[in-house]
Amino acid sequence: MVQVPGGVPDGVVFTDLDGTLLDHHSYRYDAALPALRELDRRGIPVVLCSSKTRAEMAELQAELGIDGPLIVENGGGIFAAADSPWAGLLPQRHGGLPARVFGTAYPALREGLAAIREVFGPGVRGFGDTDPAGVAAWTGLPSRQAELAWQREFDEPFLWDPEPATVDLGRARQRLAAHGLQLTRGGRFWHVLGDNDKGRAVSWLLERWRDAVGGRPPSLGLGDSENDLPMLGVVDRGVLVERRDGTHLAPRPAGVMTVLGQGPVGWNRAVLEWLESLAVV
Ligand SMILES: [Mg+2]
Repeated sequence: MVQVPGGVPDGVVFTDLDGTLLDHHSYRYDAALPALRELDRRGIPVVLCSSKTRAEMAELQAELGIDGPLIVENGGGIFAAADSPWAGLLPQRHGGLPARVFGTAYPALREGLAAIREVFGPGVRGFGDTDPAGVAAWTGLPSRQAELAWQREFDEPFLWDPEPATVDLGRARQRLAAHGLQLTRGGRFWHVLGDNDKGRAVSWLLERWRDAVGGRPPSLGLGDSENDLPMLGVVDRGVLVERRDGTHLAPRPAGVMTVLGQGPVGWNRAVLEWLESLAVV
């Protein structure tokens, strides 16, 4: 049996980063520190699940002082450090690390983006069409983080200027489907990706984990955007935090909850409320 820290913990949290744990503009998570500390005190793992790259997420994870697996690039892959107790859950190796890969290789995503551009013109611009300085300008990230964000493996973020009407989106989705690809939307960018999403990766990890430790802990998922919905649909409690304009993503699937507070403010509230509900049960 694979040894995972703590056996079956009291719970597990899966969280989006941009606009959820991290403030949309400042990328700070100070408002979430009380809940992060309480999760740490109770030995409840936090699994970061973002459209960000492995390189970006590994750095943030180290800063947060957590050591769970990373679900990177919209569920394109799950990674753990080679010396992590979580490594035993992951059957493959990718980039020299224990991994489970679901995503499509980046060059194929770039071909998909080119197919959309044929229809919609040069306003379709992906990370691969610019350099780290361009990514810094688009995201507001410091240049070092922008460099890490630019190193894509399984997901191509892109801007769309002007944004097409709903009817045209169907056309774009059709073009991508012919390449075996799909379209989703995060808080800042659209994304081209393969047959993967955050929910599929979270489900797989929960099943592997259950097989390894003999139980499935109560799970909480937190997000703010369309690309988070598959994840929020497979956890026991899925919560949308407020977006930067004070609204919640709409339409919202049945069973997905909302919490008051933007980004890390809502994150903190939702986690503390969930912990309280666990204590009652
Ligand atoms: Mg987000």
